[in-house]
Amino acid sequence: MVYYGFKEKLKINLFRFKITTMKNEKTLVIIKPDGVQRSLIGEIIRRLERVGLKLVAIKMFVPDNEFIEKHYTVNPEWRRITGEKTIESYKKKKLSPPSGDPYEITEITLNNLKKFMTSSPVIAMVWQGAHAVNIVRKLVGNTEPLTSDVGTIRGDFVLDSYQMSDADKRAIRNLIHASGTKEDAGKEIALWFPEGTINYRLIQEQIIYDVNLDGILE
Ligand code: GDP
Ligand code: MG
Repeated sequence: MVYYGFKEKLKINLFRFKITTMKNEKTLVIIKPDGVQRSLIGEIIRRLERVGLKLVAIKMFVPDNEFIEKHYTVNPEWRRITGEKTIESYKKKKLSPPSGDPYEITEITLNNLKKFMTSSPVIAMVWQGAHAVNIVRKLVGNTEPLTSDVGTIRGDFVLDSYQMSDADKRAIRNLIHASGTKEDAGKEIALWFPEGTINYRLIQEQIIYDVNLDGILE
């Protein structure tokens, strides 16, 4: 038996608190209309589930234009960041972007997104677990499926590109939305699930997170 002093106990408790907080990280995932229409709901859920994340909220929903604008602009920087990202991706391919102004580009993108995201039901979900935001982004892959890695959801199931979607004046079809940061996730979850998420323990969390597995052998 090891006896810990007050300081050690405090340290251990603080560490446990930190780990518990990390295990509770949540992220919003939306299966966009193309995911629903291509019958990829099960495949997408399977990929998120098997990594060890826990589903804590889910619903099918037909959003309207106003809701989609609210969703994409919960982060006030989104317009600038997204426009800059698009310009950068054109430049990388030695192509000239439709405009040099990031805000102008995002305005077009946002209008296309509204048309796309309201065209069919979507599945909104909240997934919880350690590093949930970054783990889900990794599994989902780059925004533009043309450059998403093989093995990611976008890389494995989509062949769309900015060039194609811009030529057709539509949103790029990349199956999924996933929160970009913990801060965005908090705001997006509050918007999509004002009723809150479900707190429950999943049996497998013991093997994923617990330090010692005493008591398994009979
Ligand atoms: P995400 O977080 O990877 O989904 O990407 P962003 O937050 O930057 O953009 C939101 C969504 O807007 C993307 O998933 C795409 O559907 C769409 N989008 C972003 N940039 C472009 C673009 O330059 N062209 C087109 N057609 N769609 C875009
Ligand atoms: Mg985003």
